[in-house]
Amino acid sequence: MANLADFRYTMESCNHCGQCKWILPAKMKGWDFASICPLHEYHGFDAYSGQGLVQIAKERLDGKLDYGDGLETLLHTCTACGACDINCKSVRDMEVLDTIYALREDCAKAGYLPEPLRRTAENVEETHNIYGEPHAERFSWLPPDFKNDTEADTALFVGCSAYRHPEIPLAAIRILRAGGVKFKLLYEDEWCCGASLWRSGQREAAEKLISRNVDTFHRHGIKTLITACAECFGAFCGGYPRFSDTGGLEFRHISQVAAKLIAKGSLPLKKGENPLRVAYHDPCMLGRLSEKYVPWNGKIRPFGLHVPEKQWRRGEHGVYEEPRAVLRALEGVTLCEMTRNFEQALCCGANARDVDAEFAAWTAAERRREAKASGAEAVVSCCPFCQDALGGEGENPLPYLDLAVLLADRLREEA
Ligand code: SF4
Ligand code: SF4
Repeated sequence: MANLADFRYTMESCNHCGQCKWILPAKMKGWDFASICPLHEYHGFDAYSGQGLVQIAKERLDGKLDYGDGLETLLHTCTACGACDINCKSVRDMEVLDTIYALREDCAKAGYLPEPLRRTAENVEETHNIYGEPHAERFSWLPPDFKNDTEADTALFVGCSAYRHPEIPLAAIRILRAGGVKFKLLYEDEWCCGASLWRSGQREAAEKLISRNVDTFHRHGIKTLITACAECFGAFCGGYPRFSDTGGLEFRHISQVAAKLIAKGSLPLKKGENPLRVAYHDPCMLGRLSEKYVPWNGKIRPFGLHVPEKQWRRGEHGVYEEPRAVLRALEGVTLCEMTRNFEQALCCGANARDVDAEFAAWTAAERRREAKASGAEAVVSCCPFCQDALGGEGENPLPYLDLAVLLADRLREEA
């Protein structure tokens, strides 16, 4: 992690061009679905945007701003979706999202954290999950006859969302079993991935939990960790290297594993299913934010020359193709593309639900409006938090399907 001062270059380089609020012009199909920052689109003020947050960071660094008058709420209403970051990088090499993270860290250090986030952190500390549910019940949804392959060097990390959506890890288990993948579960040794601590700027708590998790994975002899949760996956790839040397651990999302199994012909799929038009929603943490974080400690020379060369995270190496490949393999399923897709996908708003439920609901409804406009009858994604947002109540209702659950339902009975 880094301090606010590490991002002075970004703060001083912003030329207020506004690209962080829009998808790239080449992708625009018109005025509708052209904006990319839900925070800005909803509030309509520059303060509520990547551009504004970078300016706020500068004022804070220069000692001209204090927390305590709603600034901390504004800061955490931003969904940290990173769309501003990759769009800014299309015009300038700046670190907008990392500046936002550094500002959040500064905010937490100053003692300000919106109450729901404080509660989540306490839950993680006391019960090892974000909901405050008993730790002993983390795997209570497992069928009693489940046999753990304790010798496997691959683990399925079910994540805290298994408390709310057990059908997702159950589907992942069925897919892995059908494809002959050897894996184990960590049971009581699996704790929260730490995404909520890292992304809300609670550095010390995140560092402690992430180091503990990495040690635990090594102690269990794990080489590859599979998850069906985009938030866990994004934390493993884009967050963990900020805190800990992951020592060669490989991280896979279930959509990647499934696409590979399908390509090899290892998953027996049903035929003759009814036609269904679906729009695929790219979760931020599976798409643009899942690129591996590579620490950089160089110097920034005049004209922004980074020495030694920096490995930029521009979002294009996220997981985009594999979930689509899975959908294309399902008979009867037609994939409809939304205007804002791949690294230019609009966030579902889930991360703002605790701090500003109205804004989060508006964002989810806006995403469903776009899915409907693409001609889809349902929206598919592969993140339990996107499911909470897009599958929740509100305007523009549209059925939500989880990719792993959909795929598991399409496996032939013998699998
Ligand atoms: S795209 Fe970058 S340079 Fe342009 S206004 Fe946004 S933060 Fe500033
Ligand atoms: S991270 Fe997302 S919500 Fe926050 S300012 Fe950037 S584009 Fe807007």
